[in-house]
Amino acid sequence: MLFTDVIRTKRDGGVLSDEKIQFFVDGLADGSIPAEQVSALAMAVFLNSMTFDETAKLTLAMASSGAVLDWSDAGLDGPVIDKHSTGGVGDKVSFLLAPIAAACGCYVPMISGRGLGHTGGTTDKAECIPGYNTAPDFATFKKVVKEVGCAIIGQTADLAPADRRLYAIRDVTATVESIPLITASILSKKIAAGLDALVMDVKVGSGAFMPTYEKSAELADSIIATAAKANLKTTALLTDMNEVLGTTAGNALEIEESMAFLRNEKRDARLNEVVLGLCAEMLVISGMEVDRDAARKRCDDAVTSGRAAEIFDAMCVALGGPENFVTDSARHLPTAPVTHPVFAAGYLSAVDVRAVGNAIIELGGGRRQVGEVLDLSVGLSHVASIGTLLDTDVPLAVIHAATEDRARLVENLLLEACTTSTQTPPAGTVIHT
Ligand code: URA
Repeated sequence: MLFTDVIRTKRDGGVLSDEKIQFFVDGLADGSIPAEQVSALAMAVFLNSMTFDETAKLTLAMASSGAVLDWSDAGLDGPVIDKHSTGGVGDKVSFLLAPIAAACGCYVPMISGRGLGHTGGTTDKAECIPGYNTAPDFATFKKVVKEVGCAIIGQTADLAPADRRLYAIRDVTATVESIPLITASILSKKIAAGLDALVMDVKVGSGAFMPTYEKSAELADSIIATAAKANLKTTALLTDMNEVLGTTAGNALEIEESMAFLRNEKRDARLNEVVLGLCAEMLVISGMEVDRDAARKRCDDAVTSGRAAEIFDAMCVALGGPENFVTDSARHLPTAPVTHPVFAAGYLSAVDVRAVGNAIIELGGGRRQVGEVLDLSVGLSHVASIGTLLDTDVPLAVIHAATEDRARLVENLLLEACTTSTQTPPAGTVIHT
């Protein structure tokens, strides 16, 4: 088969046969299809989309492009369950949710992604922790999940390798925002992880990949229906991405905010809402709780009791990181040489979150090219939430940068991305029902 025929079929709005999709996935996984042809097909899919059957075939073929984990012989006494987000800015939920769910009796084998487009990636953030191995062998991964209750790792070469390659190419070719490609990307990893159930966090708003609420809802439907084809029980919450989630954006800064949350020291209200909402959903979908309020309470107790922090520490050590990381995080994390507050006046009323994500890329905290090495120390802290009255004491955010020049450039980008008003804006919805 000629790959140009596959590209031509999709370019002309046709439907790809199962054979063509399998040929594409095989060529992705073994590297025999070069990046320029992969990019051309990704763009054709972006422009002409895929039918449900094409999406399902792509998903299942990518899921079995490498190893598929099986937990049935692991002797686990709880459900194997995970959460995945469609991508956002400041989204550090995974670092909180995995140990909380584990503290509640779930087993969470979390295979995360790197930054994609304007959004940050859990794998990049985890790599801020010195010594933490995001690519352990399967035996270690399984052992940590079994003994600790959760393990957050990145995509290994063996797990859904077709997605790993396609993901990196989509990241730099403006082909991320496609319902079939996002569906196949997320589910291939999750099916390969051998889960009993999955909770999806589908983002809605200016920082989401989908441009409207309706499109985000369509993405959620696509993921749920495709997961059903693979017998993976899945539910989705639609959560707000009209502003940065929490008060930081940028790899190490987000890890520090996550540790402050686990220490029960500082829990941003919107972040707390999303974490507890998704965690409670995990307990309900896996049958561990019937009542959502009781599930939420159990998740909250896992934080206030310090149990989730203990589990994070145990995971960190088991994967090669330092001891007592939750307590000592600030000592271990990289810091940027320049900090630069950005001031504006009035109530913060709207944020172009995609532009904020792109500003982090300008700082060196996200990629422009496949394989680019990130500056993990850069980003934003003290990010004001919508409705905050900004003045000379309350900044819009504090920029953490490698140089003064970069900080000044990003200051302008941030001011352009944010709108202020003389009146308090209406309160936004954090979790859409
Ligand atoms: N997360 C993924 O893993 N893949 C996507 O395409 C988008 C978000």
